[in-house]
Amino acid sequence: MSDAYDLVIIGGGPGGYVAAIRAAQLGLRTACVEKRGALGGTCLNVGCIPSKALLQSSEKYEETMHELKTHGIDVGSVKLDLKTMMARKAKIVTGLTQGIEFLFKKNKVDYVKGTGRIAKVGSVAVKLEDGSESTLETKNILIATGSESMPIPGVEVDEKKIVSSTGALDLTKVPEHFVVIGGGYIGLEMGSVWRRLGSKVTVVEFLDRITPGMDGEVSKNFQRILKKQGMEFRLKTKVTGAKATKDGVTLTVAPADGGDGEDILCDVVLVSVGRRPYTAGLGLEEVGVEMDNRGVVTIDDNFATSVPGIYAIGDCVRGPMLAHKAEDEGMVSAEIISGQSGHINYDAIPGIVYTWPEVASVGKTEEQLKEAGVEYRVGKFPFSANSRARCNDTTDGFVKILSDKATDRVLGTHIIGADAGTLIHEIVAIMEFGGSAEDVARTCHGHPTLSEAVREAALAVDGRAVHI
Ligand SMILES: Cc1cc2nc3c(=O)[nH]c(=O)nc-3n(C[C@H](O)[C@H](O)[C@H](O)COP(=O)(O)OP(=O)(O)OC[C@H]3O[C@@H](n4cnc5c(N)ncnc54)[C@H](O)[C@@H]3O)c2cc1C
Repeated sequence: MSDAYDLVIIGGGPGGYVAAIRAAQLGLRTACVEKRGALGGTCLNVGCIPSKALLQSSEKYEETMHELKTHGIDVGSVKLDLKTMMARKAKIVTGLTQGIEFLFKKNKVDYVKGTGRIAKVGSVAVKLEDGSESTLETKNILIATGSESMPIPGVEVDEKKIVSSTGALDLTKVPEHFVVIGGGYIGLEMGSVWRRLGSKVTVVEFLDRITPGMDGEVSKNFQRILKKQGMEFRLKTKVTGAKATKDGVTLTVAPADGGDGEDILCDVVLVSVGRRPYTAGLGLEEVGVEMDNRGVVTIDDNFATSVPGIYAIGDCVRGPMLAHKAEDEGMVSAEIISGQSGHINYDAIPGIVYTWPEVASVGKTEEQLKEAGVEYRVGKFPFSANSRARCNDTTDGFVKILSDKATDRVLGTHIIGADAGTLIHEIVAIMEFGGSAEDVARTCHGHPTLSEAVREAALAVDGRAVHI
């Protein structure tokens, strides 16, 4: 079969499956090779979706246990049924992954179940589920193989007591003491789930702050709120080893800058210190696809690798490891491969932490602007002064808008508060259009809504917030 396909995609995650659908829409004969037995990648199977399902369930549990009473609702004693909670999560995952299979059929994308390897330019060898081999000839290849959890030397993940995020999404009982190694968004989300369900949660972080990369003021507030909720933090602390025992795990930690070590005894340890590109067994070295020293596949602005006809997107290339970034790259790369032009504005990709409160940001932080020597103005508005937040009892947090001092163009926005992940999109759209804080300030916002806090922050950029 010569040139049977226009495009063969390796990996059926948010990058790969979106690229496949978009390519098929554009008339390319497309196949997508996926080895995990289900489409949707990390995101749908063991990432965004199951974690958000458990965050939602655990939030409802905590609300029922501790917050309904203030509304005059007394539900009596509350019982946790973890098995049902996990079954609900699994059903959501299956429904969505099967939904992608349906979309593949609808768009006439060939779904090849197996492990793909680039045999040579224009040829993908697939080890099929039944053990047999098949070769797909194709004009173009798109690598969308995603990422994997980063290991820590001396800490062996068994997915039972010492777990990655995958194991943390599937515990069969609520641990008494759950330790999270790494204060990034995945660790804090999973820590929130188990804390709400009854665990004592300790976060061990090497740096002197959680969520590095987040606007410093927001990050500080975030940690303070999580601490108030009962999460414990051991900052500037390094993990030197972990040993699973009959009763749990003995975790050995020491001050990051040297000093005596100590043991922390706990039931479950989550290793959550970041993710790294996953390209094992793909044959990239053999075919000459360049990677950097961290294994990140090198691409140009058109997602082309160093080998003509081979492209790459998503978690295995540069940029934030986020599902929506992978999806956008999937869409645009398919358009470019089909002969159109395409472009992504990497300055307007939101990042969201789905804890309570949520934390959402887009664009530059104050620290980044200072470092770049950009003159800016700040507009801030607290949710405690927002009428809807008061009705909802969600007064923690604030909106912070950073705009260029000379032009007022919005350069970044950081929101900590209820529904921050939804609220941020107004600013994402404004930034896409190169809009100013004044544009947001002059836009009518419905009352009473949390969105009014965004408008007030925009008014505050010019020192004219009304409700504070
Ligand atoms: C716990 C957790 C929570 C997360 N929450 C969020 C969130 O809320 N929001 C967000 O934006 N992001 C979130 N992420 C990150 C998000 O999941 C990733 O950024 C996203 O899945 C990347 O998409 P991708 O298509 O590049 O790769 P992946 O989703 O990793 O998909 C790659 C696929 O390629 C397959 N594959 C690999 N090698 C081969 C091969 N040789 N042959 C065939 N198939 C192969 C893999 O099986 C996998 O299914 C989360 C991640 C985790 C772990």
